[in-house]
Amino acid sequence: MDIHEYQAKEILSNFGVAVPDGSLAYSPEQAAYRARELGGERWVVKAQVHAGGRGKAGGVKLCNSDIEIQDVSENLFGKKLVTHQTGPEGQGIYRVYVEACVPIERELYLGFVLDRTSQRVMIVASANGGMEIEEISANSPDSLVRATVEPAVGLRAFQCRQIAFKLGFEPGMVQQVVRTLQGCYRAFTELDATMVEVNPLVVTTDNRLIALDAKMTFDDNALFRHPQISELRDKSQEDPRESRAADRGLNYVGLTGNIGCIVNGAGLAMATMDTIKLAGGEPANFLDIGGGATPERVAKAFRLVLSDDNVQAILVNIFAGINRCDWVAEGVVQALKEVETDIPVVVRLAGTNVEAGQKILSQSGLPIIRAGTLNEAAERAVTAWRNDQSQATILRSTS
Ligand code: GDP
Ligand code: MN
Repeated sequence: MDIHEYQAKEILSNFGVAVPDGSLAYSPEQAAYRARELGGERWVVKAQVHAGGRGKAGGVKLCNSDIEIQDVSENLFGKKLVTHQTGPEGQGIYRVYVEACVPIERELYLGFVLDRTSQRVMIVASANGGMEIEEISANSPDSLVRATVEPAVGLRAFQCRQIAFKLGFEPGMVQQVVRTLQGCYRAFTELDATMVEVNPLVVTTDNRLIALDAKMTFDDNALFRHPQISELRDKSQEDPRESRAADRGLNYVGLTGNIGCIVNGAGLAMATMDTIKLAGGEPANFLDIGGGATPERVAKAFRLVLSDDNVQAILVNIFAGINRCDWVAEGVVQALKEVETDIPVVVRLAGTNVEAGQKILSQSGLPIIRAGTLNEAAERAVTAWRNDQSQATILRSTS
């Protein structure tokens, strides 16, 4: 789960990381009021969306008066901000963060990620901040400083000092670097984050080290341990299909194709997507309905997949070990009777109670296309989708 910049800054600040003075606003008037409350002469208005690259996309604006802040905010609220990280549809701006402007001397990059190779938290830093990590690794890979943390002892001060010197900090600044690195590391581990990124981390003209931007991502599977983090979820920033799935406890990832997939087991779901592609189609989603799926759960999965307007055919692929084919079949029938769709549905069942499942499908009177193997199922789904498309074209051209 992602959170907003202002939320990440509040968290990091609680762990001792210095951040600019700032305040959140839900309207342009409130933004101007917040600036007056903060005081000073220059402010930065920052669109709060779950994506980076806002500066280049016009989502971060320096302002010299409260009137300017109101004008700038009026142009942000309700708009969709399109950055290189959002995709073409962009992300809605419903909150802005107003900060006292910080005088910057130099910009650095600081990131904490989970390194799967060493199975440790890895720190990645660069003295060339202000650009994305991808650009840094492409343009100045030699500037990257990497260090992994031994989990049994945590991030030690000597390690932070080493990083500080590699980044070219003067001895007088090193203590601030230690505090910042250790604060981020503790926030990362204690809150089960999978990513903490401070870009840029800045040195001000008066030699303070400040996190000017902050991003945090959390491990969804550990959110139950952190109710105060779960509460930070902002559904306005999520793919609506994925929000609906998460609310229903289904493991769903939205994709851009048009063959909807309903599968039990993550591995089988991946294999199903591959097979659809091999057969010449494009999957509309990844969906693992899990083991022991009841008819109600299968019906829920169906409604979810069908709520995606791009879906033009559905492939149900069940290998029932813990599951029962008759339950899945009942779910399919139940869902199809309810939603009354004319989208072709291909069902492949194998495993426990397969005969009973097939019987339920054939006795339902519904036009369900059945398949014996995964290859057959994928081919039939792609053929059904193509036929459906050409029929639609014929209808359109004759009407
Ligand atoms: P991002 O583009 O979404 O990563 O947003 P950032 O929060 O990183 O802001 C983009 C850029 O705006 C930063 O790299 C800074 O150059 C600039 N910026 C943001 N806040 C301030 C500030 O307080 N003072 C100054 N001088 N520049 C700022
Ligand atoms: Mn940034």
